[in-house]
Amino acid sequence: MGSAVIHEEFNSANADITIQSCDNVRFCLHRKNLEVTTGGLPGKTSDMIDGVLYLPEPAKVLELLFLFTYPQRSPTHLHDLDCDSLLDISEAAEKYKVFFAISVSVSGLRSFTSTEPLKTLRHALKYDHLDLADEAAPNALFCNPTLVVTGLSDTYIVPWLLYQSLAYKKIFEKAESTLKAFQNTFTYCKVEQRGICVTCRTVIAAWIWQLKQLSTTEALLFELEKFEQYPNSNLELARDFCEGSCNTHRRCIYAAEISEHCKVGLQKSQKFSEYLLDHRVEDGSG
Ligand SMILES: [Zn+2]
Ligand SMILES: [Zn+2]
Repeated sequence: MGSAVIHEEFNSANADITIQSCDNVRFCLHRKNLEVTTGGLPGKTSDMIDGVLYLPEPAKVLELLFLFTYPQRSPTHLHDLDCDSLLDISEAAEKYKVFFAISVSVSGLRSFTSTEPLKTLRHALKYDHLDLADEAAPNALFCNPTLVVTGLSDTYIVPWLLYQSLAYKKIFEKAESTLKAFQNTFTYCKVEQRGICVTCRTVIAAWIWQLKQLSTTEALLFELEKFEQYPNSNLELARDFCEGSCNTHRRCIYAAEISEHCKVGLQKSQKFSEYLLDHRVEDGSG
């Protein structure tokens, strides 16, 4: 088993249970604390070898987890941790049912829903934290759906796939129907008649297509802002902007409106938890 070292904080002389991490650190703990603060520790006596319980997690995960089993030491936040470390703690907390650690780590994961939508959403759905799922969902609309649902329970697979395709469609729906509804004009965009020239129509259609190819919601929001400031700089067509105000501003007079439709479309997506309530997958027995 390799030579184990005793953790320098969890070394109480009157401890009555020893737990060892996969990297050979021993934690001297109190059975009573584990019993009242967790639903899964210390586990069965038959799992112990020579009075030691061996767990597969490394010491850096267990030392944080065990802090939550001692009221006077419990951290109320874990804000120094990166997303992956927080997920490791969360996984272990769920596995051993360390209740306080579960709620604190889930609330810590909320600060990563926009930068790590896939990881936070998967964790939320895996362990039924629908509040967290609701925060991650709008940011996960561009994630590869297979990566989102692989390994999840049936409760979430079909609802998520339907929700994602519907919410994704909603982002661009109004922008696309608006573009279709413009009157065709050939020389320049005429705002009084909601007329659009062929160049601007093409440029905007190409722009919407580009937006759909993005891989994150964060990138979408960034591009929507950029287009308002200096549109079409990378498009060959933009050199031939129509006469009039589109040309003067180097931006189609409709660009801001299209951008706004996409932003509103994104905000308008239903909460995933509400969608789930409305679309329970039938079990086929009724
Ligand atoms: Zn135009
Ligand atoms: Zn225009």
